[in-house]
Amino acid sequence: MPKLSELGLGKETLDTVDFDTMPKQGGRVPLLQPGHDFTFQFPADLGPNADYWDTFQYEGKTYVSLVLTNLKVVQAPKRFEDRVGEEIKWRANNMRMERKRGDTTVSFSTADYLIKEIGGVAKLQAKPTNQLYIQELSKLAGKAFIAKTVWNWRCDKKRPAMFVQEDGSASMVEGAGEGSVTTDDGQQVQAGCGNRYSFFKAETRALAAERDEQSGQPTGIYKEVILCTKAECGARLYANFDLENFRPVVK
Ligand SMILES: [Zn+2]
Repeated sequence: MPKLSELGLGKETLDTVDFDTMPKQGGRVPLLQPGHDFTFQFPADLGPNADYWDTFQYEGKTYVSLVLTNLKVVQAPKRFEDRVGEEIKWRANNMRMERKRGDTTVSFSTADYLIKEIGGVAKLQAKPTNQLYIQELSKLAGKAFIAKTVWNWRCDKKRPAMFVQEDGSASMVEGAGEGSVTTDDGQQVQAGCGNRYSFFKAETRALAAERDEQSGQPTGIYKEVILCTKAECGARLYANFDLENFRPVVK
């Protein structure tokens, strides 16, 4: 190695570096904290040719998804004001889910709620097509709305689970037979146990609550990673982000 004096460095300059514009390392932005109302804005173009539409099959039927990577946060609770201006990932589809209505159970999709509550559509035609859903959802382009952030965790039976090792790292665990799945490279590993954790349950919130190191009191912040509490499982689970309770912004 030459000495510094031998490198012959002159006074030429490199391009300007602006640390203020440096992205976070690893590229992982924390999820918006759950249980709070934020105001969001849809992208300006949600037309049929925009790059946000996808389909999936479930029990022989085709559904459409609106897959956003740029849902803009336009207003946040005071504690999370640093998130305003961020663009987040969120997806919504038109597959119906059972929901309680008094003593009965009814089925509506997230898309139904968006079209009614944010789009102001009073009635959807009988036997709506996927095209109609795309058409109605497209009209939400540029619109702002309020929604509550929610998280849930799934210990997926169909996917390899990650388990915390003695050194603190997390990895897959080999295992054959019941409760195992095959990875892409043909390895038999332990899958999740099928347990689900909803943010609406007090036990889940207690499990995910970050606590003050000194007082042990909850800080009001939730951790994205929890360990499955089902006996003999203990898989490491990442939170899934979702939105609900959609409301228009009242001006
Ligand atoms: Zn589990």
